[in-house]
Amino acid sequence: MFKANDNYLKLPGSYLFSTIAKKVREYKVANPDKEVISLGIGDVTQPLAPAIIESLHKAVDEMAVKETFKGYAPDLGYEFLRSAIVKNDFEARGAKVSIDEIFVSDGAKSDSGNIQEIFSSDNKIAVCDPVYPVYVDTNAMAGRTGDYNKETELWSNVIYMPCKAENNFAPEFPKETPDIIYLCFPNNPTGATVSKAELQKWVDYANENKAVIIYDAAYEAYISEDYVAHSIYECDGARTCAIELRSFSKNAGFTGTRLGYTVVPKDLKDENGTSLNALWARRHGTKFNGAPYIIQRAGEAVYSEEGKRQTREQIAYYMNNAKVIKEGLKAAGYSVSGGVNAPYIWLATPDGMSSWEFFDYLLANANVVGTPGSGFGPSGEGYFRLTAFGTYENSVEAIERIKKL
Ligand SMILES: *Cc1c(COP(=O)(O)O)cnc(C)c1O
Repeated sequence: MFKANDNYLKLPGSYLFSTIAKKVREYKVANPDKEVISLGIGDVTQPLAPAIIESLHKAVDEMAVKETFKGYAPDLGYEFLRSAIVKNDFEARGAKVSIDEIFVSDGAKSDSGNIQEIFSSDNKIAVCDPVYPVYVDTNAMAGRTGDYNKETELWSNVIYMPCKAENNFAPEFPKETPDIIYLCFPNNPTGATVSKAELQKWVDYANENKAVIIYDAAYEAYISEDYVAHSIYECDGARTCAIELRSFSKNAGFTGTRLGYTVVPKDLKDENGTSLNALWARRHGTKFNGAPYIIQRAGEAVYSEEGKRQTREQIAYYMNNAKVIKEGLKAAGYSVSGGVNAPYIWLATPDGMSSWEFFDYLLANANVVGTPGSGFGPSGEGYFRLTAFGTYENSVEAIERIKKL
């Protein structure tokens, strides 16, 4: 008789956003006259920029003609896209990354989940708390995280790095030395980031301890302050200790079209000299048949002059929402952070309310939906995430309602 992978059975409860959707549905059924505004989910709302749409149309037409039709894409991605990536995302920032270190994919969520496959099953992971749940859950599915404790909401074989107000929501070096360190800056959910000098310390720490950093830079386009690195490869020595994940989802609105890439430097080797770049190439070639040609052309258009200008305008629109939300909450007496280099605002719940109590309170009294911080880990308890991905009008209206509470 076959057996299911019981690592999956150890995973905690239902997915955070399903629980939220259920509560919102129930509220709407009970209160059909109320207009609910969602500042909850981390998904973009603006349509794809005109330069991207134009490129999509052109690529679709190429598919209709024998001479320009494309079948399977090259495993690692088309050269036109990978060279645009190298030039714009790395060379332009003084970071050294070559084209054969870029692996084009269908997004950073799947890459952040899959990348653990090229590491030994007894490697120990360290994560920030609160955390983007994908990092932990995929390691749990792979059997790397030990047992889940329902009381503490922690896994027995994971090193947690609490990110709290007293450290500006940045992690500290853990007491126990990890093998794999997940870092995400600018951060989802807290919106926090670290300076390039602080990131350099993590790179040095990883090199000294022979650990690898899996660096999720999905929000790099939202960085507005000069002291923040856009890529970990701006730090000296990152090529021997870091993998970087990138996504077109938040930078350019590809959440529905799907495109991302991962950088695995050739200098990244384990203690026996095994090249991780070769392993990831092997994995990619075996389990992935490439991102669609049409979408890779759309990705190329993000790096055109028009594409850059148009996507910058979209990001400015979201970041203006972030400002409205953050300033409005501050004026209403809330303790808030984030929202400067990321589209996320992280607020402390008032009057000692738990994250879920505040969720219910906000839904019932302001008809505004956000995300309970505790859903991202125990250190998120007492916090709440609002996103800037809504419309300007809804962001303003939501804040007006919250101010009246
Ligand atoms: C949205 C997001 C991503 C991007 O995922 P895609 O699969 O590329 O859409 C990656 N990491 C974090 C932390 C995110 O919030």
